[in-house]
Amino acid sequence: MIDEIRQKMRAIPGMDVLLEKEWTRQWQATLGREGVKRVINGELTRLRRRLLEGEDMDLSPDSLQKILEGLLRAEGRRRLRPLVNATGVVIHTNLGRSCLADEALAAVTEVASGYSNLEYNLDEGVRGHRNAHVEGALCALTGAEAALVVNNNAGAVLLCLSALAKGTEVVVSRGELVEIGGSFRVPDIMAFSGAELVETGTTNRTHLRDYAGAITERTSMLLKVHPSNFRMEGFTTAPERADLAALAHEKGLILMEDAGSGLLVDGKALGLEGETDVRACLAEGVDVVTFSGDKMLGGPQIGVIAGRELVVDRLRGHPVLRALRVDKMTLAAFEITMRLYMRGDYDAIPTLSMLRRTGESMKAQATRLAARLRRVTSARVSVAEVEDAVGGGSYPALPLRGWGVAVTGHPLGGAGRLQTLLRARDLPILCGARRIAGVDDALAIHVRTLRPGDEKELIQAFADLRPSELRPPELK
Ligand SMILES: *Cc1c(COP(=O)(O)O)cnc(C)c1O
Repeated sequence: MIDEIRQKMRAIPGMDVLLEKEWTRQWQATLGREGVKRVINGELTRLRRRLLEGEDMDLSPDSLQKILEGLLRAEGRRRLRPLVNATGVVIHTNLGRSCLADEALAAVTEVASGYSNLEYNLDEGVRGHRNAHVEGALCALTGAEAALVVNNNAGAVLLCLSALAKGTEVVVSRGELVEIGGSFRVPDIMAFSGAELVETGTTNRTHLRDYAGAITERTSMLLKVHPSNFRMEGFTTAPERADLAALAHEKGLILMEDAGSGLLVDGKALGLEGETDVRACLAEGVDVVTFSGDKMLGGPQIGVIAGRELVVDRLRGHPVLRALRVDKMTLAAFEITMRLYMRGDYDAIPTLSMLRRTGESMKAQATRLAARLRRVTSARVSVAEVEDAVGGGSYPALPLRGWGVAVTGHPLGGAGRLQTLLRARDLPILCGARRIAGVDDALAIHVRTLRPGDEKELIQAFADLRPSELRPPELK
């Protein structure tokens, strides 16, 4: 037994020998000699330990090559890489939220690969401001007098509170002291900004008189926060925005709103009801509103601050603005996204076009996809109605009916197993899994969120998922 282990240990080639092999040389060209050494070293140590523990392994040259090549291939993959979103969740925060419009992408490439007038005033030949590239369009689209952009909406809220309310009291309804996810919590960001949170009302009902009663001579602001990812139903009340604005202005206070998602068009134009767009917020008397660029707006990650000039101007020289400034690639993408809104070209913005898709077009796509999948798999493939979601904390209660393809009876296993195998691909594919029309444990491919080229990947993936290949794809 001991001899047998010794023999196997001795049979493992040394690092120098391995590094001379043609197949490792190819990987050295990609990962560098040290990179390949690190991977091989780690694995050889593991294999030797397992041998010593008495495990019976096939460590023939072929088998060892297969193991090591699998690891090198995994190492060679980019860490941050594209994937196929077949979940039907349009603004999926874990999957990068919004996909950029083609025209926006082209602008990013141009601006990022060369020099630009990022902070240069071409008319006068002097230093300019990066914010100037998007302020005009933002004002035109929202009706604001002035606007600023920062890294994201959390940053926008932080900047506003730091610059406008530090050392003073800010009144917030107890029904709006929310946590958005990714550790954005209203009380925490308030504490960090140096503003003092004053809670008013109750969880489900806050009246105008509650706000009025909470105002002291130390109050500077009333803050309204979009509850985003949850909804309260039943015995609830909140004052009208216009009444809140009247109260704030009568007392000489600022009314600020964290609108979260940032609708730039009337939601009804997208077939979505129940959210207030930014223009309406400002028209109803909000002094300053903040929102994200990559949620309902469908642009890059950015945080917008829009509102009255007197208020926005107080933010311009603030150090937090400098710390959270937006980079040129983001500005390029955002400027073009604004332009698409100005033109009313909503279908060029992927987030909006996905949200606007009709049942008819999704059903047709699912039918086509199902037919193509049936040619490559022995599993049961059917067209099914599915439940999609807007995501990104927008419209949590709104059922978004979609269409998809349900896969059951696959020889490799149920939905959970298929999800794992599809995730392990070089181009990972994320699918839903749920009961569809009385079918248990079906893999659900939602077509709403598929991008051009994704169907081809899906067909290839199912063609690769043969019963003879029970190993996960990365070890093939
Ligand atoms: C999403 C959201 C945020 C955070 O926005 P980011 O752009 O992710 O920083 C803040 N407030 C509300 C109400 C939100 O919905």
